Amino acid sequence: MAPVSTPAVLLRAHDYGDTSRILRFYTRDHGLVSVMARGVRGRSGKGATTLSTFASGDLTAYLKQDRDLHTMKDFGCTNLRAPLGQDVLRFAGAAALSELVLAHADQEAHPELFEGLESSLDVLVVSDAAGAPAAALSGLWRITEAFGFAPQLDSCVRCDTLLGGEEVGRFDFEAGGVRCAECAEGAAGPRLGPGARRQVLALLAGTLDTEITHARRHLRVLSDFVAYHLVPRPLKSFHFLDGLLPQEEVQAT
Ligand SMILES: [Zn+2]
Repeated sequence: MAPVSTPAVLLRAHDYGDTSRILRFYTRDHGLVSVMARGVRGRSGKGATTLSTFASGDLTAYLKQDRDLHTMKDFGCTNLRAPLGQDVLRFAGAAALSELVLAHADQEAHPELFEGLESSLDVLVVSDAAGAPAAALSGLWRITEAFGFAPQLDSCVRCDTLLGGEEVGRFDFEAGGVRCAECAEGAAGPRLGPGARRQVLALLAGTLDTEITHARRHLRVLSDFVAYHLVPRPLKSFHFLDGLLPQEEVQAT
């Protein structure tokens, strides 16, 4: 059988036996791919270090039909993203991106998702401590959107009325967006004012490269949205990231 090669990002690695590892990649051409990498442990030098989590490169593997676990031939690392392993907040952001992709992606090629994942990890690599929360949240929203679930923020999800510039609505997770002030009466979702709405739109567009206010509230809205539409169980890495985000003041925007 001839091996296939595809650009890939390493999302998770588990040791297997004494010398091998099971590696889970998100690939451009084959979606999620799990491979057995034989004899890679205990190896010193370049081969071992380039097989670290969040690294991108060219994966060459023998893909068998109707199998969940394939055999790796080679991984040529082109982008190690080493800084993600040196800073816990950026690491947590990358781990959340990975867990979201692992939890919802399948074996179909989805190039937009692949590009979104790659660029979100790259933004995290170059972000500083102040910009890391926004970089993580932006990446998570963009992955969510790449999966086909973008929140409706410009007009009310119930009555379709355009939201006013100063209008405070409420998030309706089930409906997938914001309710206008009138439709929000008696509704239980979190309040979403104009400032927060603009921030979520900027996070989705990847244009918010400055410090974000209320990062934990943003993560909570994002987690609830993801729970309704993508992954109906708590994601450990979201909880881990939440504990690392800056503490906020009680007053909401
Ligand atoms: Zn309405």
